[in-house]
Amino acid sequence: MLKMATHPLHGCVISIPTMLKSHGILQRRDMATDSYEEAIAGLSKLLSVKGELAPVAAAKVGQITADLQIESFDPIEKIKTGFSHFKREKYEKNPALYSELSKGQSPKFMVFACSDSRVCPSHILGFQPGDAFMVRNIANMVPAYDKIRYSGVGAAIEYAVLHLKVETIVVIGHSCCGGIKGLMSFPDDGPTSTDFIEDWVKICLPAKSKVKAECGDTPFPEQCTTCEKEAVNVSLGNLLTYPFVREGLVKKTLSLKGGYYDFVSGSFELWGLQFGLSPALSV
Ligand SMILES: [Zn+2]
Repeated sequence: MLKMATHPLHGCVISIPTMLKSHGILQRRDMATDSYEEAIAGLSKLLSVKGELAPVAAAKVGQITADLQIESFDPIEKIKTGFSHFKREKYEKNPALYSELSKGQSPKFMVFACSDSRVCPSHILGFQPGDAFMVRNIANMVPAYDKIRYSGVGAAIEYAVLHLKVETIVVIGHSCCGGIKGLMSFPDDGPTSTDFIEDWVKICLPAKSKVKAECGDTPFPEQCTTCEKEAVNVSLGNLLTYPFVREGLVKKTLSLKGGYYDFVSGSFELWGLQFGLSPALSV
């Protein structure tokens, strides 16, 4: 049983592991996990037996922290190294591109992709800076036109279509999507257990309903895979609720595409929507 400590920043009572997590110390628990657990167990015992030893315990925490930080992941170093590499290998080797981009952007694509760290569109589709105006969110969803609830997404679409004049909007779903798994798992109504997630993923509730109706007897992982693709179709349909998107489609200055990246099999599907779904094309 862990004793409580006062958080130095907020003055609230939190557990010691929480405090350590807030300082990023538990990010690499694969390293030195055993010694960490042992140290915390010893510390807890110390605190429970002798409350007046708090300063001693604090010093011990400091020592454990210092020991762990030697081996732990350094976010600042990662960022510095990453930018140095980009500047040396990309920025300085493409002066023409970056000089052009310093004057403005005119991307051909607007891309909706999941926030999932494994599905970065620039990586999987080879987009260079200036190629794609991007929105990433939980489960790559496009909500229907709503100036109050989803103004952030609306602003991005409005800017991309009316000002940047993108030619193609691509919504990219992906395999093993946690957001879609959540959508398929959460109850459709009643109280929610999350502040934002359930309400957000319900944007694609029609996809869930369709999957449950058409293949509700298949194993749950299969239902999720089907829903990952159906949710893309719901988002494509929702794009049609934006008047400037409809106008672009009518004038043929804009097209809508659905995509699905399967990082388990390493494949990518692309399909079109021209006021109706066309068959999938594997690429
Ligand atoms: Zn996802």
